[in-house]
Amino acid sequence: MERKQSDLLFARASKVLVGGVNSPVRAFKGVGGTPIFFERADGPYLIDVDGNRYIDFVASWGPMLRGYSYPEVVDAIQEQAARTTSFGAPTFAEIKLAELICSYVPTIEKVRMVNSGTEATMSAIRLARGITGRDKIVKFEGGFHGHGDALLVKAGSGVLTLGLPDSPGVPQDLAQHTLTVPYNDIDAAKAVFDAYGDAIATVIVEPIAGNMGCVPPIAGFLETLRELTTNHGALLILDEVMTGFRVAQGGAQALYDIQPDLTTLGKVIGGGMPVGAFGGRAEFMNQLAPEGPIYQSGTLSGNPLAMEAGYALLQSLNSHTYAALARKTNHLVSGINDAARSHHIDLHINHVCGMFSMFFTSQSTVTCFADVMAADAERYRMFFHAMLDEGVYFAPSPFESAFVSTSHEENHQLDATIAAVDRVFARLA
Ligand SMILES: *Cc1c(COP(=O)(O)O)cnc(C)c1O
Repeated sequence: MERKQSDLLFARASKVLVGGVNSPVRAFKGVGGTPIFFERADGPYLIDVDGNRYIDFVASWGPMLRGYSYPEVVDAIQEQAARTTSFGAPTFAEIKLAELICSYVPTIEKVRMVNSGTEATMSAIRLARGITGRDKIVKFEGGFHGHGDALLVKAGSGVLTLGLPDSPGVPQDLAQHTLTVPYNDIDAAKAVFDAYGDAIATVIVEPIAGNMGCVPPIAGFLETLRELTTNHGALLILDEVMTGFRVAQGGAQALYDIQPDLTTLGKVIGGGMPVGAFGGRAEFMNQLAPEGPIYQSGTLSGNPLAMEAGYALLQSLNSHTYAALARKTNHLVSGINDAARSHHIDLHINHVCGMFSMFFTSQSTVTCFADVMAADAERYRMFFHAMLDEGVYFAPSPFESAFVSTSHEENHQLDATIAAVDRVFARLA
């Protein structure tokens, strides 16, 4: 497959953009080679600047739940753009998206809109610290919550891909307040509360880890975090930036029946526009300015283009959406597993509704960061490039989740993907 135009653009980009990109994982350092520049996308397909077409499983890292260029979202953006791209003043669009979010996720009584998932988690942590008057936070190894200083400690995907354990530029004084525990390790979570319980403001956790690949919670893990935080007067933040509206209409918290104090959202709620949000119990949210003393603001927060795009996508969702996503994901995953078995490839796939990850490992479970690191990343790199040549675009890193959209058809793009995987596994075997 020729990608001359992408190569030329990457050379040009590298002169004026750091690493040729605006977000590190896009640079293909996790898999080697030159990133692909895209021009258009439609439903399950991406079309690059050389005119090559790919079946896509990246979904802009999650938002494209209904595939690219979903007509309702495109229309909503076009109509709003003609009215103006921003006011910086209250609009009806903010209310209707907030009302929808509150109705889908019952633990969210009030919302604050922001511009990214990073902003949502940073602000939710400030709120939790302000409410409790405590400094320490607990996060999990391989858990990624955006690039806020306090959260760039043992974070997942991007940081893993580049092999940076932590980041220079994060003050030790700040990092020392971040306590890190292995994901799905119930005893370690109890131990950290035994040692620091009175100083912990909040536990922030991805209810399904998605940034070290997809790693679902084991039974009792989230329940234990809910119990520990309640017993010690700390807040539980479920970071649903990836899982919100991805795995269920009510988010992962509905799937696992966990009631957090605060929830962070992003990705799907913007329909592909830059959006984040956090919300939760009104008594907590009311501590934010202008109701309360804890400050948070944003020039473009609640931007009408983003609100209209998010509303158009969210209001299209219902229980059928998730039944279809689960069915499609199961179809793809079982096809890939069959291909692995027939070619004797050691593979383990974790999946929940519209998200999944392939780990090249002989282990029968992958439940934590150490399990993820034990998988064969080099084999993923070979798989990734071979699939690209088959016209299938997976994430350019072994530490990401793959996403299925409602636009992927089982007897069309998904069967084509399974057939391509089968050919690639035959060569890898
Ligand atoms: C993507 C992600 C973030 C960061 O969101 P941005 O919009 O990239 O800042 C935070 N938390 C989780 C769980 C994510 O998947």
